[in-house]
Amino acid sequence: MRDFTRVDVIASKPVKIDNVNKTVNIMGFTYKIVMSDKVEMDDNTGYAGKILYQNQEIHVKDGVHKQYRFATLMHEVIHGLLYHFGVSEHDEESIDMIANGMASFIINNKDLLNEWTA
Ligand SMILES: [Zn+2]
Repeated sequence: MRDFTRVDVIASKPVKIDNVNKTVNIMGFTYKIVMSDKVEMDDNTGYAGKILYQNQEIHVKDGVHKQYRFATLMHEVIHGLLYHFGVSEHDEESIDMIANGMASFIINNKDLLNEWTA
């Protein structure tokens, strides 16, 4: 089982994150969101994000464009959903497609989401 991931997109406008929610609920499990300048796995620091199921943590690279950061968070959330559904093997390309699609949908439909989920 993989406990990590990366998104191969180069950010163009680095920004630091400050005033945001630092936990996310995935299927009733509360994951702490850990912002970090480097997301490391096996001595490789080229990752944008990773999810640690047993620690209930999602690590997201900071200092990147907020849309890229959100897409990274969505990527890890999709991993988390699959994990808690009992699916242990995750295809990274499919995860990226779903995560980027969902990130785009959420970013571009905030009014609809507020109205339909309030
Ligand atoms: Zn992944």
